[in-house]
Amino acid sequence: MFSSVDLFYLDKPSFLGIMAILLDVGIVAFIIYWFFLFLRGTRASRMLMGLLLVLAGAGAASHYLDLFTIQFLLSNFLNYFFIFLIIIFHVEIRRLLTHVGSELPLFSGEDKGFEALDELLESLERMSAMRTGAIIVLERSTIMDETMLSGGEVIDAQISKELIWAIFHVHEENPLHDGAMVIRKNRVYKAGVILPLSPNKQLDSRYGTRHRAALGLTENTDALTIVISEERGTISLCDKGLIVPMENTMRLRNEILRLMRNQGLSPARWWRKNRNQARG
Ligand code: ATP
Ligand code: MG
Repeated sequence: MFSSVDLFYLDKPSFLGIMAILLDVGIVAFIIYWFFLFLRGTRASRMLMGLLLVLAGAGAASHYLDLFTIQFLLSNFLNYFFIFLIIIFHVEIRRLLTHVGSELPLFSGEDKGFEALDELLESLERMSAMRTGAIIVLERSTIMDETMLSGGEVIDAQISKELIWAIFHVHEENPLHDGAMVIRKNRVYKAGVILPLSPNKQLDSRYGTRHRAALGLTENTDALTIVISEERGTISLCDKGLIVPMENTMRLRNEILRLMRNQGLSPARWWRKNRNQARG
């Protein structure tokens, strides 16, 4: 296992040997750095920090106090640490892999995308004025499956304000109005979807389950969600576990375009963007 490190102790390490060590360490450092950047600000990063602190604390205590059983358990646990990491972070790892592989031009560039966005905004404006409660999910790089978007009906239709009004029209014979509508690749993909609720304890008490559901999805995926309050008629935008009230649909349009512009990233663009965020 340590054979490459042993090269340091040779009198004349070969040039190729040193290059191999640098490459080896560089690749591992790059992967760890990339993974940490990706986890930044998410619940998973806090879990990882907690786990590392517990391991470090238990390791130090068992070493200095000679607690053999804990040392034994820790050394066994460390053998399986990577499998453990994969299980804890399976959502993030899937997100990371789909990031690298996908290119989704949602609401960007082409005229068709802008038309769809304007139809969506018009529908939101009316629903907000009529106090029709709604959650709209804008899928980005993370392609979400049943674990995130459970229930509902697949619709797969072109976005139009009439369709959106019909979906959220409150009527006992319209089960789709309860739950979220999902937009995937500029189309209405699904409606009546149940989203995971945010467990955030600091959330303002005026936000109930609708807002918690809109927020919850953005905590573990890169989706954007828009939520209209039935009680207040307000429109809010959620991204990465934060909810921001929008004073008007113009502001919402600008925010969506700004956030959408940075998606559909090639690995190189993704890397540059995250590096700049890390610096700034
Ligand atoms: P509002 O401001 O509109 O009253 P709220 O945040 O106070 O919203 P509630 O009043 O509890 O939330 O809203 C209940 C509605 O939220 C439900 O009828 C349903 O349409 C929607 N909702 C609740 N939970 C979920 C969920 N997990 N996924 C999708 N939609 C949900
Ligand atoms: Mg309510």
